[in-house]
Amino acid sequence: MRFASLGSGSQGNALVAESGRTRLMLDCGFALAETEARLARAGLAPSDLAGVIVTHEHGDHADGVLPFARRHAVPVWMTYGTFAALRDAGATVEDCTLHLVDSQRAFPVGDLLVQPFTVPHDAREPVQYVLSDGARRLGVLTDAGCATAHIKANLSGCEALVIECNYDPGMLEGGPYPPSVKARIASRLGHLDNATSGEILSTLDRTRLRHVIAAHLSQTNNTPALARAALAQAMACEAEWISVATQDEGFGWREI
Ligand SMILES: [Zn+2]
Ligand SMILES: [Zn+2]
Repeated sequence: MRFASLGSGSQGNALVAESGRTRLMLDCGFALAETEARLARAGLAPSDLAGVIVTHEHGDHADGVLPFARRHAVPVWMTYGTFAALRDAGATVEDCTLHLVDSQRAFPVGDLLVQPFTVPHDAREPVQYVLSDGARRLGVLTDAGCATAHIKANLSGCEALVIECNYDPGMLEGGPYPPSVKARIASRLGHLDNATSGEILSTLDRTRLRHVIAAHLSQTNNTPALARAALAQAMACEAEWISVATQDEGFGWREI
């Protein structure tokens, strides 16, 4: 099993995972041509994808999903809440193959098993996902306002983790955002700061963990060095062992 990011941050997110003959995209916050270019950079064509699974309706995760699915006839999986939010915002969903996700139930797509789990975030029915080939597991967690026992239970024992390090509290507090935006980001339905992500990591079963990638970093309220240091401290490892996903490049293929 292997996975790569096409880009990660508030300007757009997309990740691809592959097992056997199955490749899935997780979220697509990029415009159509941009998504195609980023897939090509990862050595993939749109026709290689068995589907797109969506975490929630926020634009940096969902803006590119339906245009891509329509253009390339790729099926889409999302919760009913995410579907309803996109529909209510005026998105055209009729000409896409849509599957509704039960946020408590795993489902197979080809050679990949997809386990959704619920997260606290200010969207209609947000989930995050653990992807598995039956033996190895990749856990993805972005866009969560705080740590929950449910999140930790789902991410424990994974071989690889992609985990949000959205902000450093001091940089957010002293930064240029208006007070209402600062409050939203820091709220329990907002985003994960470096220390909270570290706290989550520190409580997991990490005996099988081979890759940790900090993702969804704010370009205004965080730095790669701060995110790396927080996760490395939580894991008692060298900072160099932690990877950081970038907005422009994401990260290259990792194998588990
Ligand atoms: Zn986001
Ligand atoms: Zn979000």
